[in-house]
Amino acid sequence: MTDDIRLGDVIRTRKSHPCGSDEWTVIRVGADIKIKCHGCSHIVMLERDAFLKRRKAILSRKEDGQGE
Ligand SMILES: [Zn+2]
Repeated sequence: MTDDIRLGDVIRTRKSHPCGSDEWTVIRVGADIKIKCHGCSHIVMLERDAFLKRRKAILSRKEDGQGE
């Protein structure tokens, strides 16, 4: 799997959130990564390495091709 993290990625984590959902959307990419739970809208901030350890799969990704 790629180490790439992109805004808007929908990802699945290894462990599900206490609310029961294991799907999250990446809402911020920077020095830290912010993800939002699809089940309860809880927002978690993680360091990049911690995020990559938690991520099990990328479920969908925006392919808009706009580099910034
Ligand atoms: Zn949740």
